[in-house]
Amino acid sequence: MLCVMTRRIVLFGGSFDPIHVGHTTVARAACEHLEAERLLFIPARRSPHKHREPIADGADRLAMIHLAIADHPRLDVSDCELRRAGPSYTLDTVRTFRRMYGDAVELCWLVGADAARDLHRWHRAAELLDACRVCVMRRGGAPAPDWSPVARALGRERADALAANVIETPLVDVSSSAIRADLARGKDVSDRLAPAVWDYIRRRGLYGPQNAAGPVVFD
Ligand code: ATP
Repeated sequence: MLCVMTRRIVLFGGSFDPIHVGHTTVARAACEHLEAERLLFIPARRSPHKHREPIADGADRLAMIHLAIADHPRLDVSDCELRRAGPSYTLDTVRTFRRMYGDAVELCWLVGADAARDLHRWHRAAELLDACRVCVMRRGGAPAPDWSPVARALGRERADALAANVIETPLVDVSSSAIRADLARGKDVSDRLAPAVWDYIRRRGLYGPQNAAGPVVFD
């Protein structure tokens, strides 16, 4: 019997301000689970879901992602959202990759359960859910997401598709905002970052209290 393997690419968008071990751990787990040939980190120029611009500029965030994934052959990065003006809408990005890869490749958009709660409010959410396979990462031990707002706004079929695409990923209790807050207080956050990313942040004086106040002293 002829067995045709589906080519699958995972797209993982976020601010990555900065990228941390939570991001890389779940990316590797999702890549494995989905049997994907590649997972691309896609740093947003400006997330439409966040109230403020990222603290680090696009070039620094991109450089830190390169450093964090250097030892992971299936992880890669795309700067397509950094190069596009305006808010970084996921649907525009998915369409860019669809044009690039054509219809033979399955595109999965990876999102954490926290960010997925408001999926029905995302820009042209129905089109987005029809344009790719949205895979929701449920952090180990967390309750199952409630898809009833999605069902009400976008229809039961789309909510069922989301429920069928929930991936259990390891619980890594780390967030970029907590890392930034600790860095601003001069705390050592090296256990939450790839060593090369930690070095980069120190060399560039990123996320300090604030850079104008001179070099940050880490304890
Ligand atoms: P912030 O604390 O600034 O909101 P963040 O740590 O959540 O940042 P983002 O760059 O906003 O990082 O996240 C990108 C994506 O990664 C989102 O879909 C988010 O849900 C997911 N994510 C972030 N941290 C983790 C983690 N520790 N485990 C699993 N998923 C995560």
